[in-house]
Amino acid sequence: MNNLKNLRGTVDLLPDQLIKWQNVEKIVLEQLSRSSIKEIRTPILEMTELFIRGIGEETDVVSKEMYTFLDRGERSCTLRPEGTASVARALIQNGISSNPHQKLWYMGPMFRYERPQAGRQRQFHQLGVEFIGYQSVRSEVEIIALAWDILGKLGIKELNLEINTLGDLNDRLNFQKSFLKWLNINKDSLDSDSQNRINKNPLRILDSKNIQTKKVLENAPRLFNFLSDKSHKRYSDLKNQLEVLQIPYVENFNLVRGLDYYTHTAFEITCGALGSQATVCGGGRYDDLIKQMGGPNTPAIGFAIGLERLILLAGKELEVPRNTDIYIINQGLIAESLAIDLARKLRNYDLIVELDLSGASFSKQFKKANKLRSKSIIIIGDDEAAKKEFTIRLFDKESFDNKEEVISLENDIKLEKWLSINLSFK
Ligand code: ATP
Ligand code: MG
Repeated sequence: MNNLKNLRGTVDLLPDQLIKWQNVEKIVLEQLSRSSIKEIRTPILEMTELFIRGIGEETDVVSKEMYTFLDRGERSCTLRPEGTASVARALIQNGISSNPHQKLWYMGPMFRYERPQAGRQRQFHQLGVEFIGYQSVRSEVEIIALAWDILGKLGIKELNLEINTLGDLNDRLNFQKSFLKWLNINKDSLDSDSQNRINKNPLRILDSKNIQTKKVLENAPRLFNFLSDKSHKRYSDLKNQLEVLQIPYVENFNLVRGLDYYTHTAFEITCGALGSQATVCGGGRYDDLIKQMGGPNTPAIGFAIGLERLILLAGKELEVPRNTDIYIINQGLIAESLAIDLARKLRNYDLIVELDLSGASFSKQFKKANKLRSKSIIIIGDDEAAKKEFTIRLFDKESFDNKEEVISLENDIKLEKWLSINLSFK
């Protein structure tokens, strides 16, 4: 048994760590619900074909990072590496035309076979938001503002928003002609991955992480110079509206993003505090994806936030759990069964109630309550139980005496009064 371990690149999240996760998730979910965005849940396991067609065969994600296997029926299955393709599939399959405008979010594990390091795992988690059916630049602005506000609500500072435009299909075809000419001239200076992509998917080369290739690319033709007037206008409208909202941005012409389906706007939010895995949020417009996947022509835009990186950035104050309101110290046969009843009643008041199940001595149970920093304690032993009452007291040494009360198990009015005065129960 000793050598059974979790797989490399996966992690166990233990109760103490999950306090921060849950606090972060709560803030995120509140902001999503205030923005009237609805949740969607799709399977973690999908047909491999979905990602090949949706994300693109030549992307790093599909060509190197997928967890793909044959199931017992010889079907090729893949653990989802991202959420957008699955959302698009689910919408097409469930009849997108009956509901052509949707604002959706999802949250859950994703899987990519990558080299694990700080902020990079093989099983990691993403929060994704997709605005389906929205064409106007205002949807870009709303979705970027949403990502920005979620990070702001978590108290994360020193964020950088980087934006770029990838134009539409036509713009890219025009660009590709000159880019291909340039690539063939400069072929020998590129890394071998990029050389292989020249004939398969040359635009992917722009996303190369190879330092030498990146340097050579600085002299390549720029996609920006091949944009139509319409695409230019869209991009400058985006910049203007971000300025109106006072969301600061930097333009990054090299921002391509790792998935094939993007058109027009691409954006990333980075934070220096994350070191080399600096991107916490990546997103963009994908107007052609749903059509390419067999659905009706449907514009869309979305982003994904990496939750592990978000947790690294969120403040220490989110590591603090909500205190136990009442710790029930109990001992003796009758007392123990009455204590369960009492705990259930108190939980109906939306209080956090811990029932000690140890059967240990009063002093040991007392110590445990102290360690938990419970706001108050209830003491019930067989003497109290015989009289059908219990003692409740604030666990605050200074106000020890005057905050103690003996209450009958049947006297809910007295109990509620005590709770409202001492635990601000409403
Ligand atoms: P990176 O350049 O860091 O590999 P990416 O472009 O592959 O990121 P996306 O596919 O855009 O990432 O995913 C959106 C976000 O999900 C990233 O910005 C990051 O925060 C997070 N993410 C992606 N891959 C991982 C991973 N292996 N481990 C943890 N978080 C990840
Ligand atoms: Mg990646």
